[in-house]
Amino acid sequence: MNRNLCIVLSSALLVCSIGAMADETAAEKIIAGAWSASQVQAIADKTLQVHLPLVPGALRPAERAAAAELLAAGQRLHDVYLRQLHPQALAARDALARHPELAGHAALFRVMNGPIATTLENQRVPFLGVDEETPAKNVYPRGATRAALDAHFAAHPETRAELLSGRSIVQAATPENIRQAIATLDAHPALDVLHPGLRARLTNAVAYVAVPYSVAYADDVSFVYERLNAAAALLDESDPAFARYLRLRGRDLLADDYDGGDAAWVTGRFSGNLNAQIGSYETYDDALYGVKTFFSFSLLQRDAARSAELAASIGDIQAIEDALPYESDRRVSSDIPVGVYNVMADFGQARGTNTASILPNESYLAQQFGRTILIRANILTHPQLFAGNQRAFVAAMVDEHRGDFTSEGGLYRTLWHEVGHYLGVNRARDGRELGVALQDTADLLEEMKADLVSLFAARELHERGAFDDARLRAVYADGIRRVLQKTRPRRDQPYQTMQLIQWNWFLDRGLLTAERGRLRIHYERYDEAVETLLAAVLELQAAGDRGKANEFVDRWTSWDEALHGAVARRMRESETTRFALVSYEALGETP
Ligand SMILES: [Zn+2]
Repeated sequence: MNRNLCIVLSSALLVCSIGAMADETAAEKIIAGAWSASQVQAIADKTLQVHLPLVPGALRPAERAAAAELLAAGQRLHDVYLRQLHPQALAARDALARHPELAGHAALFRVMNGPIATTLENQRVPFLGVDEETPAKNVYPRGATRAALDAHFAAHPETRAELLSGRSIVQAATPENIRQAIATLDAHPALDVLHPGLRARLTNAVAYVAVPYSVAYADDVSFVYERLNAAAALLDESDPAFARYLRLRGRDLLADDYDGGDAAWVTGRFSGNLNAQIGSYETYDDALYGVKTFFSFSLLQRDAARSAELAASIGDIQAIEDALPYESDRRVSSDIPVGVYNVMADFGQARGTNTASILPNESYLAQQFGRTILIRANILTHPQLFAGNQRAFVAAMVDEHRGDFTSEGGLYRTLWHEVGHYLGVNRARDGRELGVALQDTADLLEEMKADLVSLFAARELHERGAFDDARLRAVYADGIRRVLQKTRPRRDQPYQTMQLIQWNWFLDRGLLTAERGRLRIHYERYDEAVETLLAAVLELQAAGDRGKANEFVDRWTSWDEALHGAVARRMRESETTRFALVSYEALGETP
C-alpha cells in the first residue's frame, strides 16, 4: 500500500467515525425528547387495532412468490414515504428500534407514519426529539414558505412548472445539491436517458432546483424496479397482462412518468388473483402547494366472487346514465375496470383504512384510458371498523332504525359511489373541464355527485332485481350514516362539507326528521330527496359557474346546535377510538 492511499483511507475512516458519532448524538436527542409513557398511552387508548388476515388459498404458488417480491417493494416505498414526510423520520425509527423499552412509542410511530403525532385536540406535534412539522414536509427546502417561492416564481416564471411538478422534490440550488444530483445521473445512466435535458437544467439552476423522485431516491427506486421485474418474470405465464403492467410501472418509476403503466393498469384484463397500486399519486400530504405526490403501494388480492357479481350488476350502466336527472346524450362504456379486493398490505400513503380508490387522477389519462376502481372489501366489512360506524349510526337514530345498518350496505354504497364518478356531467356546458370552471368547489361537487348517483343507482338496481329489499335498505341506511357529522365541518373540508349539504337537504325534504336529538328516516321520501339534490348538483356542474356553486354551498351548510349539534354530540359520545393501528398477516404481523 503506498503512503498516499494510506492517508486517504485513514482520513476516510476518520470521517466515518465522526459521522457515526453525529448519528449517535442525533439518536440520543431523538430519544431524550420522547413523550412520557402516559402521553403515549392517552393516544393508545384511542387507537383501534385492526388486523388483516390473509384469505387462505387465494393465491397460486407463482403468485405467492410474486407477492413476496411485491411486498418487499412496498416496504421500501413505505420508507421513502416516511422520508418524504419528515427529514428525521427514518433516524427516529432507527433510534426507537434500539430502545425496546419504548415499544409504545414505536407503535405510535406506526399509527402516525412518523415522529409527529396528531393529538386528541387535533394538533400536530413531535412525540420524539425531532424538528416540528412544517408545510414544506421533506419535499421542499427546509423552512420554505409560499411567500419565498412565489417571489421566485414571479422573478423566474419559466421555472414554475418544473419546480411544482408532482414527482420531484424542490431543493436549494447549492453546489452540493447539484453535485449530488449529477453524481446520481452518472451512477445511474438509465435515469440520465429517461430525463432528457435534466443535466443541463441542474447545471443552470438558479436559487431552486427540481430533483425528480427517481434521482432523489435513486437507490430505493432501483430496488423497487428490480422487485417489480422479478415479480413480472414469475407471472409471465399465469397473468401476462399483470406482468406487462409491472414491467411498465417499473420503467415509469425510473422516468417519473406513469402514462405507460397507467394505460396497462387501467385497460389490462388481469387473469390472476393479484393487483397492485404502485407509485406516487395523491397530493394530500403537500401542505405548501398541494402539488407534490407522495408514495404509496397496495398489494391486493382479487375477491373473484364479488368482482364477478359486481361486473354483472354494472352490465347495463347506460340505463342508469340515461335515467339521471339531466339533459344529456352521453354514451358511457359499461366496461368499467372495477374490481373487489382484499388488501394484503398497504404501504406509504395508502396505509390505514382506505376503503376504495379510483386512479389515475389526471383527466387526460382518464379520458384516454378511463380510471381503475379498486374496492377494498376486507376494510369495508372489517368487523371492528364496521362496529364503530354502527355505534355512530345507532347513537344518531331513533331506536326503530337499529337493524337497518349492515356492513353490506357500506360495501355496495361505496362501490357505486366509485362507479358514480363515471356517470353524469363530466364537463361544463361550454366545454371547460370541471376543475378549471369550478376550481376549489369542483371536488366537493364531484364527490357529492358520486354519493348521490350511488343512492340513485340503488333504486334502479333494486327495480331490475340486482338488489333485494334488504340490500336496498342497507345501502339507504349507510347513505344516511355517511352524511351525519361528528363536528361542524370547515369550509376547506370538501367531503364533510358536501355531506352536511346532503344532511340539510334530506331534512328539508322530509327524508329525515329530528326527534329529541335523534333522527328518523322516512324511506318513502328517499328517492325524491336524492333525485332533486342530484339534479341540482348536475346543473351546478353543467353551468360551471363557481360563484353560483359557492352560493349553493353557503346556503346549504347551516348548522343548528340544537339539531346538528345534538346529533353530533351523541355520535361523539359513541366513539371509542379515533386512530387505527393496522397489522397485516402478509407481513408476518400478528394482531
Ligand atoms: Zn369519490
